[in-house]
Amino acid sequence: MTLPVLLMLVHDASGVVSVEERDPATGQVSILDLGVTRGDGIFESIGVVDGRPQALEPHLARLAKSARMLDLPAPDLGVWRSAVLQSIALAGSATAGTELLVKVILTRGIEGGDTATGWVYCFDAGPYDRERDRGIAVVTLDRGYRSDVADTSPWLLQGAKTLSYAVNKAALREAARRGADDVVFVSTDGIVLEGPNSTVIALIDGIYVTTPSTLGVLEGTTQEAFFDDARSRGAQVEYRAITVDELRSAQAVWLTSSGRQIAPVVTLDGVPVTGDPAFTAGAVARLLAR
Ligand code: PLP
Repeated sequence: MTLPVLLMLVHDASGVVSVEERDPATGQVSILDLGVTRGDGIFESIGVVDGRPQALEPHLARLAKSARMLDLPAPDLGVWRSAVLQSIALAGSATAGTELLVKVILTRGIEGGDTATGWVYCFDAGPYDRERDRGIAVVTLDRGYRSDVADTSPWLLQGAKTLSYAVNKAALREAARRGADDVVFVSTDGIVLEGPNSTVIALIDGIYVTTPSTLGVLEGTTQEAFFDDARSRGAQVEYRAITVDELRSAQAVWLTSSGRQIAPVVTLDGVPVTGDPAFTAGAVARLLAR
């Protein structure tokens, strides 16, 4: 089998969902689909290493949480789980010794209709060696809201993984204009949030710290795996608000995400970050071995 693999989730008249393999090179989604016209939907990107999906259950749980936040119909996780596994099985020998991504997409469907649109897409997204080995230059960018936005304005959907990533992409273009590779969003009250497609982990006073999801950031599945690994090695981890000043003086900073896994931040707004290359190399290996 060659990549990519596309599986559509198809509803019959009685609402039963089945999974059908389709040709990814031909149109499969209506131009009237709200996912296309409004970015009204949710998604997950699941890393696949040597044929093993990583953090599949946390990804499915986050898909269900995003669906709840957007008032979408609850996804049948059994169907989605088996579609993800089927897409990997169909990729067959293309999974051997390599890293893939499976994208899981659920939209509100066609405007005026009552049926969600869903598909699973397995493809080769790497390589990530450069960012993992050499690290990334990161700029802080103001996200334009306070760190309590999830409580004050839940309709802004912070903490849901929605399809509306135009802002996230614009931030990455701004980073490129500033000669950087990536972004750390900061709240108007000076709290570190997350990257446009990653979680921030900082080593502060010997403790691995990340921003709690109560501050309107996504619950990162890779960060969770990093913390599990750190705990099992006797290290201390903490979920708490991190100020920008703390980030600037951290011993090391990483951005974690399902595809890239972990990338060390080597400069923050142009200022070198100390870092720990030997630790990072080990962490990459352990995250890939999951
Ligand atoms: N935060 C945002 C906004 C993201 O888009 C992502 C990537 O999916 C993450 C955090 C990291 O999440 P994960 O490690 O589950 O990929």
